[in-house]
Amino acid sequence: EKYKDGLEKTRTSFTSKVNDLIARYRKVDEDFFEELEDLLLQADVGFETVMQLMDDLRFEVQRRNVKDTEGLQTAISEKLVDIYRKGEEGEGGLNMQEEGPTVILLVGVNGVGKTTTIGKLAHRFIREGKTVMLAAGDTFRAGAIDQLQVWGDRVGAEVIRQAENSDPAAVMYDAVRAAKNRKVDVLICDTAGRLQNKVNLMNELEKVHRVIGRELPGAPHETLLALDATTGQNALIQAETFKEATDVTGIVLTKLDGTAKGGIVLAIRNKLGIPVKFVGLGEGMEDLQPFDAERYVYGLFA
Ligand code: GDP
Repeated sequence: EKYKDGLEKTRTSFTSKVNDLIARYRKVDEDFFEELEDLLLQADVGFETVMQLMDDLRFEVQRRNVKDTEGLQTAISEKLVDIYRKGEEGEGGLNMQEEGPTVILLVGVNGVGKTTTIGKLAHRFIREGKTVMLAAGDTFRAGAIDQLQVWGDRVGAEVIRQAENSDPAAVMYDAVRAAKNRKVDVLICDTAGRLQNKVNLMNELEKVHRVIGRELPGAPHETLLALDATTGQNALIQAETFKEATDVTGIVLTKLDGTAKGGIVLAIRNKLGIPVKFVGLGEGMEDLQPFDAERYVYGLFA
């Protein structure tokens, strides 16, 4: 249900257009393929992904000797799921530790929904009966620490914080020690989202990683990159930058409810080879869903 509601925009534009196309053509020919290709590109599925999908679809149509467009909707859905799943194991899951705190680092550019995602994730874990601590590692952006505190109070998670402009690595040091001492299950760490240049970003994330790993070997266990789905192909460019700067283990694609171009999920997966682990489908604390390709694609066509 959450998927269906959150994907309303993509569904009403993209899906209804695909259905129109299918109804209008009835026969599968080159013109049909070309129009479908355009629709997919408009939905931000991404050039390479679209080309691959069209190849797969043409092959399938020939193999099964499909003459009319009936049933093609199912074939399209299946191919989209296949493309997403290619070579992937254990979609969506987080690397949770049995013993001691699981440390999750959130990275991403200011404004993409990083803080909100931290709050939603914390809420999810707390609902599962886990204890959660938050680390206010974005010491640079004015108001970021207080904003995290608001989320901490709202969901019931302690926030480890220092003054604005203090060293993020020092906050992480405090937070990991506190999480270990208090036997917290999950520590979620915010990081600075200013992206002036790649070298700075790399240095800062490297330092944060080093401090966390020194206090707790093997940590951080996940580095999640928050990307704003409404920024379309720009999100892909950001992802490339962060991928080079640090070891990103998963993507949280936020604001999917705010775009008609939900195809960006497939572009990200296919182009970067990093799994989308969660999607943001609204501003509330319940509006975060683990990503599941099948539910997603079938949610579009439901
Ligand atoms: P940060 O600067 O990356 O920490 O971004 P924030 O967490 O402050 O979020 C920026 C804005 O995006 C806020 O107004 C959030 O309520 C909004 N936002 C975050 N995630 C979502 C989402 O999944 N859907 C919608 N519609 N809005 C979101």
